[in-house]
Amino acid sequence: MYDGDIASVLVTEQQIRDKTAELAELVARDYARDVAGPGPGPGSDLLLVGVLKGAVMFMTDFARALPLPVQLEFMAVSSYGSATSSSGVVRILKDLDRDIAGRHVLIVEDIIDSGLTLSWLMKNLESRRPASLQVCTLLRKPDAVKVDVPVKYVGFDIPNEFVVGYGLDYAERYRDLPYIGTLDPSVYA
Ligand code: 5GP
Ligand code: MG
Ligand code: MG
Repeated sequence: MYDGDIASVLVTEQQIRDKTAELAELVARDYARDVAGPGPGPGSDLLLVGVLKGAVMFMTDFARALPLPVQLEFMAVSSYGSATSSSGVVRILKDLDRDIAGRHVLIVEDIIDSGLTLSWLMKNLESRRPASLQVCTLLRKPDAVKVDVPVKYVGFDIPNEFVVGYGLDYAERYRDLPYIGTLDPSVYA
């Protein structure tokens, strides 16, 4: 598939699977008390908020790896800026379907680069008064540490390269690759 387009594999399918299980175990341990108290029910389930479309693959695998009942919500946002860098000015294309007030919310992200999109999203969701708000991202680039966004769960810290696969696209392609890789320069040409 995509013969010749992938220059190198940065994170293999197996590495993604192992890391997802590891993160799920951590999250399950951290949230066990919050979501299991007396009289647990649909209103106390952990709420995963995935950011479309990049986080879809990770979100669905992560949800299945979590030994806790979770509910799934999705948001779509667009970040104004150039193709390669986001400005931090964000517009909501699709909002959550329900109120998150009083809920334990975990944002599930594919990748954090500048962190500007996430920083905006955190403020936006925080204003809706969730019981708690944390972030779980599969990938993180070096610049992300410069922004003051507390990211509790990180899968892999990767170098500052443009990556595709496992939800991440280049011009809407490559999201269906089961691993994370870098593109051959011929693709951009
Ligand atoms: P940030 O606001 O953190 O700079 O933007 C994060 C978003 O930019 C990600 O959700 C993703 O859509 C996009 N992005 C950042 N780095 C990459 C990358 O290496 N590959 C791809 N395909 N998208 C990226
Ligand atoms: Mg994303
Ligand atoms: Mg994209």
